[in-house]
Amino acid sequence: VLSIRAVSKTFGSRKALNAVSLDVARGEMIALIGPSGSGKSTLLRSIDGLQTIDEGEGAISAFGGPVQAKGRVSDQVRKARIRIGFIAQQFNLVGRLSLFSNVALGSLGRIPLVRGLLGAWPRETREAAMAALHRVGISDYAGQRANTLSGGQQQRGAIARALVQKAKIILADEPVASLDPVSARKVMEILRDLNASDGLTVIVTLHQVDYALRYCDRVVALKAGNKVYDGPADALDRDKLIEIYGPEFEEVF
Ligand code: ATP
Ligand code: MG
Repeated sequence: VLSIRAVSKTFGSRKALNAVSLDVARGEMIALIGPSGSGKSTLLRSIDGLQTIDEGEGAISAFGGPVQAKGRVSDQVRKARIRIGFIAQQFNLVGRLSLFSNVALGSLGRIPLVRGLLGAWPRETREAAMAALHRVGISDYAGQRANTLSGGQQQRGAIARALVQKAKIILADEPVASLDPVSARKVMEILRDLNASDGLTVIVTLHQVDYALRYCDRVVALKAGNKVYDGPADALDRDKLIEIYGPEFEEVF
């Protein structure tokens, strides 16, 4: 469902990604790990298509077509991008709007027009938004302003919005990093369930290696922009983790 061919990304003189290749099959759940600054967010943003890469258009494709575009964004690229949902560490929702409105905004695509905030939502959108809120377990909060929700509820709202967007690939960049352990586990369980039950493809960056091992089948590790591990989560042993994170790893783990 996703193909990444030797992608590099240079910021000034710093190479954030160095010829990273990755093939992702439909329905995989992948943890992207690695030390701070190793290029995880850069890789996710490149897949998302909103950040350019050194190679240009052809190097990343999703659903068989490019997600990167030079200049004008073609319909093909727009269609591929709309099926990719992005969830960041925090501030995913528009704080002044209700949770419901935030989720319904998913129906407008990834960069909602302000026009969508006025007037009533079509019935189909309202139903999709409520179904998505039920799915992530926060339908009781539909009318509440997003900036009054807990961090975990906001993350679930961001997932619900991706569902209304009909995303088939979910890219989540540290979705649980600012959550308490109980909320974090809940969010990971929701992602895992969407993967297992609905066949969504999930790529999630995580600082907590134990979450990667618990919730994901496959782990990809970056170190200074290089892919240094790509394999089953259960084959990731202590020595490999020390190689990825350095000797300090034992203190953190
Ligand atoms: P963290 O775990 O801290 O989130 P990361 O693995 O997500 O780290 P990236 O954010 O992808 O790391 O950054 C990789 C490298 O690219 C870093 O050295 C960073 O400073 C650099 N970088 C990222 N974005 C930019 C940018 N817009 N301009 C300049 N340098 C950048
Ligand atoms: Mg990051």
